[in-house]
Amino acid sequence: MNQIINGKTLAKSIREEVKKRVDVLKEQIGKVPHLVVILVGEDPASQSYVKAKERACLTAGMKSTLLQKDDTMTEEDLLNLIKQLNDDVDVHGILVQLPLPNHMDANLVINTIRKDKDVDGFHPLNIAALHIGEPGILPATPKGIMTMLHSTGIPLKGKNALVIGRSNIVGKPVAALLLKEHATVTIAHSRTVDLKSLCLQADIVVAAVGRAHMVTADMIKPGAVVIDVGVNRVNGKLVGDVDFDAAKDVASYITPVPGGVGPMTIASLLQNTVECFLSLEKK
Ligand code: NDP
Repeated sequence: MNQIINGKTLAKSIREEVKKRVDVLKEQIGKVPHLVVILVGEDPASQSYVKAKERACLTAGMKSTLLQKDDTMTEEDLLNLIKQLNDDVDVHGILVQLPLPNHMDANLVINTIRKDKDVDGFHPLNIAALHIGEPGILPATPKGIMTMLHSTGIPLKGKNALVIGRSNIVGKPVAALLLKEHATVTIAHSRTVDLKSLCLQADIVVAAVGRAHMVTADMIKPGAVVIDVGVNRVNGKLVGDVDFDAAKDVASYITPVPGGVGPMTIASLLQNTVECFLSLEKK
């Protein structure tokens, strides 16, 4: 009964779809979406994430600019750079790679990005739009997770959904999106008592914690859909928050790590960049 939701394959088809849209835009209006990514500092994980984003943009036929800044950059200089990009009609998406150095206030930095160029969907106005059901830009990882859930064809309405983790970038927005689709949503976190019994009631489990294999097969209701967002390194190997090998025999659908949610995040970012471009072109 178990099926693997292959994030790589799904992401590939989304990226091809985005490329087709970009090719049409190029032909019709002679312009393509332009994403600017700002990286402050030299965090190796951040460097590899921004490179992957840049490659994905270029492969989709979009323009991509990576601005790499020294971690001695002042917050004021970063805010001024964002303001310049906000006003630049040739820029359609702005992404500031997190985490930022300690001397910078990440909230202030994100709040400075124009909401209609906020391809990460982290601006408070985009978060507010999500919660009140208005159109806005969705954060990329939660958007990718919803695409994966939709790909199963299973209706979400009335299902018990458990989101483990309540971060602003994954847990809370995923919960809001599930609620919007009429699931009955529970959010678990580090102070939750008896996670196992909540899990066993859930038709859909989204694990976004960052603890290797914390969701074991005996915690999963037979036939549940399991989305594993976690990325953990164990003995040099990437693993998720779910004990995939055992859980796959209990779940109806399950995502692997790697090759699950990760590729969907970048595909969703490309979709967001096209959406920003289209909404700016209408103005
Ligand atoms: P955060 O560290 O911001 O949040 C983790 C959440 O897990 C917190 O809400 C925390 O609770 C909760 N938590 C911690 N311990 C437990 C526990 N024992 N039981 C239940 N809940 C617990 O992480 P993120 O949301 O940023 O990321 C989560 C994971 O997803 C990470 O592994 C990250 O690498 C990965 N990730 C993957 C992405 C992808 O594209 N594949 C994108 C983004 C993240 P509390 O709030 O009480 O502290």
